[in-house]
Amino acid sequence: MTQLDTRPRGALLRPGDDGYDAGRAAWNRNARQAPAAVVMARDPADVVAAVRLARAEGRGVGVMATGHGTSVPCDGGVLVNTSRMTGVRVDPRTRIARVAAGTRWADLAPVAAAHGLVGLPGSSSRVGIVGYTSGGGFGWLGRRYGLASGWVTAADVVTADGDLVRVDARRHPELLWGLRGGGGALGIVTTLEFALHPVVRVHGGNLFYPVERAREVLAAYAAWAAPHPDEMASAVAFRRFPPLPAVPAPLRGRLVMAVRGCWCGSDLAAGERLVDELRTALGPPVLDTFGVLPAAHLDPISSDPVDPLAAVGHCELVRALTPEAIDALVELGADSPLVMLELRRLGGALLGPSAQLSPMGRTEARYSLNAIGMTPTPESGAAVRSFLARLAAAVRPHATGGTYLNFLDADGATPTRVRAAYTPADWQRLVELRRRWDPDDVFRFSRHGRQRASVGTAR
Ligand SMILES: Cc1cc2nc3c(=O)[nH]c(=O)nc-3n(C[C@H](O)[C@H](O)[C@H](O)COP(=O)(O)OP(=O)(O)OC[C@H]3O[C@@H](n4cnc5c(N)ncnc54)[C@H](O)[C@@H]3O)c2cc1C
Repeated sequence: MTQLDTRPRGALLRPGDDGYDAGRAAWNRNARQAPAAVVMARDPADVVAAVRLARAEGRGVGVMATGHGTSVPCDGGVLVNTSRMTGVRVDPRTRIARVAAGTRWADLAPVAAAHGLVGLPGSSSRVGIVGYTSGGGFGWLGRRYGLASGWVTAADVVTADGDLVRVDARRHPELLWGLRGGGGALGIVTTLEFALHPVVRVHGGNLFYPVERAREVLAAYAAWAAPHPDEMASAVAFRRFPPLPAVPAPLRGRLVMAVRGCWCGSDLAAGERLVDELRTALGPPVLDTFGVLPAAHLDPISSDPVDPLAAVGHCELVRALTPEAIDALVELGADSPLVMLELRRLGGALLGPSAQLSPMGRTEARYSLNAIGMTPTPESGAAVRSFLARLAAAVRPHATGGTYLNFLDADGATPTRVRAAYTPADWQRLVELRRRWDPDDVFRFSRHGRQRASVGTAR
């Protein structure tokens, strides 16, 4: 290894340098990190140099594209910031997209849409494609097409040795399996390739009801969603809106129930008919936003926040919306400090062969539960965390004990919870893969990073 090998062409920022603070700042302001160096990578060679620099200095390596999912702060390590590595290529013939490490779903959408194609983003197109896909990745098209990770065909990866390797079904098939949901701990992906899907328009939106009708809405939603074909994805949520002029008047400053849906079958009228069934069952909502949306722009369905903020969450996989589970949710949700308590319907292709690694592909749970609170002050942080602990205890009797990797944040990514995101067999396979590809635990600042130190699984 020469000195040259360890010098990136993109900026190498040390504490005190201009740009260091911006380079280490995660979207979720709760994920504060103090790296020894930040490399603003411009290309794969910079990523190679960053890994070699870290090795030369005896440090670990972290990677961040957007900071939506920074879970183990890169304290004292070399942080590879990939936000400048953007780029999208779509081959309309093979329907394969090739994206650079820092690309967000919003960057891919217009390029894919020009060919009548879409990827499988989640509720926010501001999230990075590589981070999202490395943790499974499920969104509004998931019940029809499965997890985003199941569609990965190839990747270029910088290994813990600082080598750039091509990964596909022929070269390093085991590593390909690990990249399809293994949580970003096997190497730094510099480009990712995956299949797209022919969807142009969807029928999607929300029906909002007063929170006082929570029990009725949850029961009607559970009955409505149970028999749905895979083309229909849906969720039910307690949702608190801020008192801002941009929020529609019926929701402004209020806690409400939202029933969300997205029909991605070719017959859009069939989706509208399904929504009509719920309108009939529940009567007029306070606001009805269902309509035809471009498949390339599904963000209005969840209207997730765009600007950076401090938030903390908790995720469980819920077996079913039984009357007892509904009782527990009503008691918790009706007076919570959270901005969102959402149950998303699982099933369909999320249980199919594309769900290769995440336990969502092997779970008996019908719903994922994702609870999120804002923590702008220490006091609000304490209130939200104490509420989330109460929620976890109350939901436990109705949950499988499993969880979903992508929803584990800086609080949630404990060794036990990360392990609970996998089946025991997948977990063991992943541990062996990490031992082979990263024996020195170079990529320790990932959701899997706390494992070795805490439970000694691989050393
Ligand atoms: C508002 C919001 C909405 C969300 N909605 C959904 C949703 O609907 N469905 C869903 O499944 N998830 C969802 N998530 C979770 C999201 O998918 C994860 O937080 C994901 O990790 C974010 O990836 P990122 O690259 O944007 O974030 P980052 O914080 O930049 O990266 C997160 C992690 O991904 C890994 N990673 C990133 N880049 C690389 C790379 N080049 N090589 C290897 N590993 C890498 C690293 O382990 C890194 O720590 C949401 C999160 C937020 C904040």
